Amino acid sequence: MPELPEVEVTRRSFADRIASARIVDLRMGKPLRWPLGVPAQDLVGQRVVGVRRRGKYLLLDLSDGLLLVHLGMSGSLNFALHQPKAGPHDHMDLVTDRGVLRLHDPRRFGAVVWAPSENSHIAQKLLGHLGVEPLDGGFDVDAFALALKKRTSAIKQVLLAGDIVVGVGNIYASEALFMAGIRPTTSASRLSKPRIARLHAAIVQVLTRAVAQGGSSLKDFVSAEGKTGYFLLEASVYGRAGQPCRTCSTPIRSLLQGQRTTFYCPTCQKP
Ligand SMILES: [Zn+2]
Repeated sequence: MPELPEVEVTRRSFADRIASARIVDLRMGKPLRWPLGVPAQDLVGQRVVGVRRRGKYLLLDLSDGLLLVHLGMSGSLNFALHQPKAGPHDHMDLVTDRGVLRLHDPRRFGAVVWAPSENSHIAQKLLGHLGVEPLDGGFDVDAFALALKKRTSAIKQVLLAGDIVVGVGNIYASEALFMAGIRPTTSASRLSKPRIARLHAAIVQVLTRAVAQGGSSLKDFVSAEGKTGYFLLEASVYGRAGQPCRTCSTPIRSLLQGQRTTFYCPTCQKP
């Protein structure tokens, strides 16, 4: 599933090229997770002012309103001067005078939603609960510590919830907790300030590295069950159950937390 780094890498791949393009046509395919919310033809003639990201949403600012695009479980965007004929899994072609932005989404958990503004009811329904962005100045270690003190659930679950800080999905939560030496099952409220500071730094480092590597460390793979996902080639713990810890050689363990598999080193990561 695309996580924050992949969404940011996607944004960077076309934001400059689509900026100030004029919308010539919008063709929607099969229904996605939510409806567009406006007749597609209403967007024709508008300009794409720019592309921002909020959590795992891409925000295409238009001359009137904005398009919120979510990649869901299996979505990907491609911007090209010309696109081949749309296939059965291509569910949006945003045709502009600078190229065509295509959404390919086999599982159709993705979404393309128009909102009149970022403060509108529909946009707030999607974005309103999101925590701070980990990769800009708003991710403050003191505020992070204060927020964690109020949560008694396991730190991994608190990170995944995304309402304190966004973008720390399953892979990155496992990796950041390893880097910070924190057991994923530890109650968030029990973490000391120095440990929280280490976790804060680890989250920034893990996500910054993933974005910088531009997906090169993330290899699209299809598991034996035929499920698509991402595989972190250089992971310290993620996907490495039973293999020796790269730091201390203790076999990496896995456990189920809220139906997601968590990986950790029982020696390097203290409760
Ligand atoms: Zn270890």
